[in-house]
Amino acid sequence: MITTKTIALVAHDNRKQGLVEWVKWNYLGLSQHRLVCTGTTGRLVDEAIRASYKEADADSPDLLITRLKSGPLGGDQQLGAMIAEGRVDMIIFFWDPMEPHPHDVDVKALLRIAVVYNLPIACNRASADFLISSPLLNSVYVPAMDDYSAYTQRALPAD
Ligand code: PGA
Repeated sequence: MITTKTIALVAHDNRKQGLVEWVKWNYLGLSQHRLVCTGTTGRLVDEAIRASYKEADADSPDLLITRLKSGPLGGDQQLGAMIAEGRVDMIIFFWDPMEPHPHDVDVKALLRIAVVYNLPIACNRASADFLISSPLLNSVYVPAMDDYSAYTQRALPAD
């Protein structure tokens, strides 16, 4: 039995082709889960999965793909908010290690919040291969949370 997860997919422009190729390898598995993507990535992921079913001469199932805003227009921040709300299980984030981006601060924030909430995050294709083939993907898995109570209950100067 499949335990449906919410998988976030994001790729910077120079990494989009790589993500599309990876999605085509993994379209069967991916289409059994809910996908949430930044805007342009979401369009490409949707097209890649549909094209893969077509090539296999099969009908595409109803895909559950949520498209957020494009990354530089706030999509990374929307995804970060979803992570903080516990609405994402796993992140495939093909970020570009060779070029600066106008939303680099958002990228850093997204990576940071994923670590805060102990989410599995793959930033390259090899890691994505390991995550997508993990038996944990199709079982119930609740990431252990670090204890932040010392921080949330810290004394402030006014107390
Ligand atoms: P995009 O955004 O999918 O809309 O291109 C990705 C990003 O650059 O963060």
